[in-house]
Amino acid sequence: MTRHLIRLIPFLAAVPGVAVAQDEAERLVQIKAMFDPAAIVSGPDLVDCTLSGGTETTCFSITVKSSLAENEMGPWCPRNITDGPEVSGIWPHEGKVQDADGAFVKNLSTFYDDPNWQLFDPATGEVNVTEGKEACELAARPNVDPAYQNHCVECQTSYMEQEAVLTYVIPMQPVDLDRPERPGPFVGIGLAFNGIKYDAPAPVDRILGAYTLAPFDDCGGHVNPHAGYHYHAVTGCSPEIAVIEDHAPTIGIAMDGYPLFAQLDPDGTEPSDLDECRGHVTEGIGYHYHVADAGANQTIGCFKAEYGCSLDDPSQTCDATKRPPPP
Ligand SMILES: [Zn+2]
Ligand SMILES: [Zn+2]
Repeated sequence: MTRHLIRLIPFLAAVPGVAVAQDEAERLVQIKAMFDPAAIVSGPDLVDCTLSGGTETTCFSITVKSSLAENEMGPWCPRNITDGPEVSGIWPHEGKVQDADGAFVKNLSTFYDDPNWQLFDPATGEVNVTEGKEACELAARPNVDPAYQNHCVECQTSYMEQEAVLTYVIPMQPVDLDRPERPGPFVGIGLAFNGIKYDAPAPVDRILGAYTLAPFDDCGGHVNPHAGYHYHAVTGCSPEIAVIEDHAPTIGIAMDGYPLFAQLDPDGTEPSDLDECRGHVTEGIGYHYHVADAGANQTIGCFKAEYGCSLDDPSQTCDATKRPPPP
C-alpha cells in the first residue's frame, strides 16, 4: 500500500489546493513510474503548452504506444450467428453492455426495430465482416461506403503501415473551467497506463445509421486505422494502481490533468456524490473522475478543467485552442 501511495503523489501534487511540496523533475519521475515501461517511447518531459481555454502553462509531454500484443486485442465481430460471446466483442446500448455475439447479430432488426438490418446471410448464418485493410477504411470512415452497409466493421492493427505512436501533452496543474466542457471528437478523454487512449464516445448513431456495428472487444477497445487500438469503455483490463483503502484504483490520467479512477469502489458501489463530469473530491486524492459503466459509451461526463493535446508529431507544440477539422 505504501508503494501505491507514493505512486499517487504526482496526482496529489497536481490537484489545486493540495499542498505537496515537490519539484517538477521529481513529479515527472513519479508520473513515469505509473506507466508500463513497454508503453513509453519518450518522456515525460516538461513543455510549454496552451490549454483548451487559452491558458499558457507547463505541461508534461509523454510519447507512448500501446503495450498490448496482437493476441491481447479482440475478438470483435462474430463470424456466424451461432458464435457465442467468447468469440465476440461487446456493444453499448442505452447505458448497458450487450454481447455483440451471433445471437445479437441475428436479432438486430428486432433489437433496433428496423427491418433494414440484415448483417448475415440468411442461408448460412455467416456474418458480413469487413475483410482486410481497404474494407476497414471504407467502413470505418464517417460516411460509410454504401457497399459496407450491413457489415460488422473490424480493423486490425496489422493493417497499419506503422504502429500508432501518440504524444500526450497534459497540464501539470489542472486549470478549472468556469463551465465544464463535454468531450468532443477532437481530443481523447485520457491515457491509460498501458499507453492506450481512452477515447471520446464512439459515434454510435452514425455507425448504426449506416447499418454497421463496430464492436469493442471485451476490454472496451477496437482499432481504427489512424489511431490504432483505443478504448471506448472501461472493463477492468487496463492497468490499475491502488491508491487508498476502500477506494477504486486509478486507471489513468485525463487530458485535463485530473486522475481517472475505476467506476466502482471495492465494495462494488459507485460513489454517490459524483458531479456532472463524474468527478468528486475525496480526502487524500483531491478532485478525480470515476469512469462510467462500460455500456455508457462515455468514460467521463465532461472535463472540469482545460485540456491539453494528443499529437501525432512529438515535435509539435500543444495549442489546444486550435482544433483540427472533425474526422
Ligand atoms: Zn473507436
Ligand atoms: Zn473517488
